[in-house]
Amino acid sequence: MADVQEPLVRRKRKKVLVDYLVQFRWIVVIFVVLPVSALIYFNIFLGDMWSAMKSEKKRQKQHDENVQKVVKRLKQRNPKKDGLVCTARKPWIAVGMRNVDYKRARHFEVDLSAFRNILEIDKERMVAKVEPLVNMGQITRATCPMNLALAVVAELDDLTVGGLINGYGIEGSSHLYGLFSDTVVAMEVVLADGRVVRATKDNEYSDLFYGIPWSQGTLGFLVSAEIKLIPIKEYMRLTYTPVRGSLKEMAQAYADSFAPRDGDPAKVPDFVEGMVYTASEGVMMTGVYASKEEAKKKGNKINSVGWWFKPWFYQHAQTALKKGEFVEYIPTREYYHRHTRCLYWEGKLILPFGDQFWFRFLLGWLMPPKVSLLKATQGEAVRNYYHDNHVIQDMLVPLYKVGDALEFVHREMEPGFEHQHRQGDTSYAQMFTDVGVYYAPAAVLRGEEFNGAEAVHRLEQWLIENHSYQPQYAVSELNEKDFWRMFDASHYEHCRHKYGAVGTFMSVYYKSKKGKKTEKEVQEAEAAILEPAYADEA
Ligand SMILES: Cc1cc2nc3c(=O)[nH]c(=O)nc-3n(C[C@H](O)[C@H](O)[C@H](O)COP(=O)(O)OP(=O)(O)OC[C@H]3O[C@@H](n4cnc5c(N)ncnc54)[C@H](O)[C@@H]3O)c2cc1C
Repeated sequence: MADVQEPLVRRKRKKVLVDYLVQFRWIVVIFVVLPVSALIYFNIFLGDMWSAMKSEKKRQKQHDENVQKVVKRLKQRNPKKDGLVCTARKPWIAVGMRNVDYKRARHFEVDLSAFRNILEIDKERMVAKVEPLVNMGQITRATCPMNLALAVVAELDDLTVGGLINGYGIEGSSHLYGLFSDTVVAMEVVLADGRVVRATKDNEYSDLFYGIPWSQGTLGFLVSAEIKLIPIKEYMRLTYTPVRGSLKEMAQAYADSFAPRDGDPAKVPDFVEGMVYTASEGVMMTGVYASKEEAKKKGNKINSVGWWFKPWFYQHAQTALKKGEFVEYIPTREYYHRHTRCLYWEGKLILPFGDQFWFRFLLGWLMPPKVSLLKATQGEAVRNYYHDNHVIQDMLVPLYKVGDALEFVHREMEPGFEHQHRQGDTSYAQMFTDVGVYYAPAAVLRGEEFNGAEAVHRLEQWLIENHSYQPQYAVSELNEKDFWRMFDASHYEHCRHKYGAVGTFMSVYYKSKKGKKTEKEVQEAEAAILEPAYADEA
């Protein structure tokens, strides 16, 4: 293609032991990770059912008691002796991929594991009050039968409300509702001094309300959130449109699919997603909620993509490249979680034959492996291997930059508000969108040298130069100066000082940065300097 630079040519790399450990990891996955994951999922499911059987009053009472335990624990901390505060959640349990070095150095843990209940579904206020460890699978199981849903539902079942508010939170309906945190009505937060406050967008804690998103838990502990609900219908009418052309043309087709050039709201779908399969082929999908009466009309095709034996979603969507545009109706909850079973396309790396017909029928019901167990069973060598040879990055970019972002990623990895009105923008906001880059780079698959750290570093520089953002769940190579070139620190620092977080909670850069890789290195680095950004004030 004339406008795309070809990927860099790289030298062959010599295979080492860890390459084979990764290549044959599927053995551990099949015999250990999958069966144990199934047991864990079942156990969690029983716990959720048990919680749902309790009265709202009882759940709220237990919640209040648990909040008091957090307050008590925070007050036990001796700032002279103890490290900075963070949650007791084990690094391997979280879905995010960053190093989480701070958990391998001195720190003071506060256990939030009890906060996993849906406290209330208020159909009148159209608000769900939930605790931070409630995950997406749990919330859709409760709300979908009522024809209600959170306005932004993340696709992987295991992503939690607390992680999506404090971490990232973008999905196929974000062109209408914004980030997950934009759909939050109120947050209950335990501050560094043990005060429990309820922050909303217009009360005395509104600065905290706007400071918490993407702060990675460094302003206080979120102990519950009230989140906007929307009415939904039973099915998603999904249109799959194949696109062939350059990456720029695909980016344009993506923008056209949900941000009509004439700005006509009637043409804006409820959901949007685009998948790029090669540098010249992609499929754009737009979804509109549909009633069961409509879905079941003669001639309409219903596809329950959630069944364990069904083709993986990204492969199913790819069939549009062969058969042309098609439309089908997917049960709404199954649509929300369409990428859960195969973890987008990461499932193929973990289980190279997982997408085969025989595997899906025989063992597909055990999928997906729990990300936490995958992480727990990988060991340090494999973890570091993934950091260097595997990409999981999202890029929050202005919509008009998607073509450039795709070209940049194609070349490097192969797989400020602008005062101009561009496609998708409104008079008061600029449309940003997510470009997700997941999988092993083609160079790694070909056995060539690939420097993951350098590639990520260049990606970060590209994001800074293009007024875009890197969500901090991913491995970051940013130094502190560049971190604060990407993000505006002013409001965050105001909240850090006003709410006493300095000297109690870690700074967001300290939590996000990629540091040393071994436990010993981390401890040595930590002994040298505790919290770089705020060392003089702590
Ligand atoms: C393959 C893959 C695909 C992904 N796809 C998407 C996607 O489509 N959309 C999207 O939005 N994100 C996506 N993510 C990223 C995801 O949003 C982040 O990993 C996110 O941080 C949620 O993870 P978690 O629920 O495990 O939270 P955690 O990683 O546990 O938490 C995230 C941060 O929030 C803090 N935190 C969590 N709970 C609290 C609390 N109660 N109080 C204070 N701080 C808290 C944690 O300390 C941490 O710093 C993806 C990640 C991967 C690996």
